[in-house]
Amino acid sequence: MSEIKVLPEELQNRIAAGEVIERPASVVKELIENSIDAGATGVGVDILNGGRRLIRISDNGRGMEREDALICFYPHATSKISTEEDLFDIRTLGFRGEALSSIASVSRLKILTAPSGLTLGVSLEIHGGELREVREVAHSGTTVEVKDLFFNTPARKKFLKSQRTEVYHIVETVTVAGLSHPDVAFSLTIDRAETLRLPVAGGIRERVLQIYGEEFLGGLMEVNEHNLSALISGEENFRSSRANQYIFVNRRPIRDASLRHAVYSAYDTLLPRDRHPIFFIYLDIAPSEVDFNVHPAKREVRFSDKEAVYRSVYNVVRKALSGSAEEDADYGVETDDAPDGLQPATRNPQPVTSVSQPATPEVPFVTEPLLKYGSDFKYIYLGDVFVAYTDGRGITLLDHHAAHERILYERLRQGVGLEVTQLLFPKQVRLPAREYNVLIHRLDELKEMGIEAEDFGHNTLMVRAVPGFLFDADMAGIMSDIAFCLIESTAGSPVEDLRDRIAKRIACHSSVRGAVMLSHDEIARLLDDLSAAEDPEHCPHGRPTRIQMSLEDLKRMFKRTG
Ligand code: ADP
Ligand code: MG
Repeated sequence: MSEIKVLPEELQNRIAAGEVIERPASVVKELIENSIDAGATGVGVDILNGGRRLIRISDNGRGMEREDALICFYPHATSKISTEEDLFDIRTLGFRGEALSSIASVSRLKILTAPSGLTLGVSLEIHGGELREVREVAHSGTTVEVKDLFFNTPARKKFLKSQRTEVYHIVETVTVAGLSHPDVAFSLTIDRAETLRLPVAGGIRERVLQIYGEEFLGGLMEVNEHNLSALISGEENFRSSRANQYIFVNRRPIRDASLRHAVYSAYDTLLPRDRHPIFFIYLDIAPSEVDFNVHPAKREVRFSDKEAVYRSVYNVVRKALSGSAEEDADYGVETDDAPDGLQPATRNPQPVTSVSQPATPEVPFVTEPLLKYGSDFKYIYLGDVFVAYTDGRGITLLDHHAAHERILYERLRQGVGLEVTQLLFPKQVRLPAREYNVLIHRLDELKEMGIEAEDFGHNTLMVRAVPGFLFDADMAGIMSDIAFCLIESTAGSPVEDLRDRIAKRIACHSSVRGAVMLSHDEIARLLDDLSAAEDPEHCPHGRPTRIQMSLEDLKRMFKRTG
């Protein structure tokens, strides 16, 4: 006797139903999706007894003609796709034609629907998958009532959790639907008490405001990039759980560990251990580039270019965060006319009036009053950045800022020649909390760069010693810069690399700024130091420190051959 038999259709449906309909909240999800696919702008959800007694979803969508209503609850009945190609161009939430048949097979279902524009429609009752009754009724839009869920599948019914738990999942489901579709109004009543009321919102911001309130929204940053918009935790607005983390792809909530990882890694060191960001990320991806037919409840997706999606999520979050970090970095960072890193005594006392005109690098040889000839002037300032000097065999033009940067950078990077100065009066440096939190864990590394600082609590560091050249520098700005490097650094980057970046930052910060002219002695020292540098020709960013023209070059320029 044969042992294999094809299961009766009804049993097939119940097995399928098990995949799609786990619990009352799954019914809510599927029915809301149908309403949205039907173009509804308003969806009402009513729940009795945790959804066991009643789940009712009413919408003002386009409804169904009688003939459609009569087949909509058959397995694989759908109006949303008809060919295989359609599977790769899905623009609706549903497409599998499984929801109504699944729900109908495990409950007592009633559908009331009328095609839009008509108030006369049809009502059908289906119990455990069997059509019981068809009537004409006055109706508008579509209402689906699900009673006695799992009445004929006791095993499944046994798995239902407490009413509270089921209600929790239902509220979450309607909330997620609300977040996915701000342009749709939602209401939810639980045992006749209004639980959620979400009028049509102008966008995700307004929807988040409706759901979570002003304070919550205030802690979020908004980002909009071509195919991605998001609301994400601003600095310090972290939670101890992963609640409130949502990713939507084409307005469908999905679970995707890899994209979540993208967000977390973008937060990187901003995120304290065991803390979690809030995020609402909305991705729009061409339907041909994403496959939703992976999971029966469509919670998972497959991207054709997973890495590109990962990168775009990472970059957007990163950008949002660095945007805010840049604002913060303004805190205490010197501006062009703020004091530079030099001590007042070293400023050039010579009254050089015409240096106020900016020196244009293309025209280093400027007007005559600037050029000071004679034996007193071994070094000639051209504008306020360039210094010309000669060794008799040619002429060298030096960018004193770039040269200084190179020297400081090498010293900081190597941690040698730093000449640490103990401050007589330690400096209290107050920082934005995020930067402070980063720095207090890295004080040892700072020490290697000649900056001795202690945690003073209350977002304050006490700076006790600095390399000599930072003596008068803006410590808050420098600390912000260092914190920024630390924040930017990815967990895996080698220490050297990080140190290199910090050194560049500090060097740039504290080297000679534009409008300061060095004395002859200072220039002489600068040139000595420069010639001892590993790469005297370039500043840490790769720009030249000096341009040399030999006599031969000059001859060529003057067309004096031979
Ligand atoms: P799917 O959504 O995957 O197409 P369903 O079983 O959920 O499958 O629904 C079957 C069909 O019933 C839908 O394709 C749609 O044509 C129709 N339908 C279901 N719900 C509604 C509704 N609320 N308003 C209008 N039509 C609906
Ligand atoms: Mg559906």
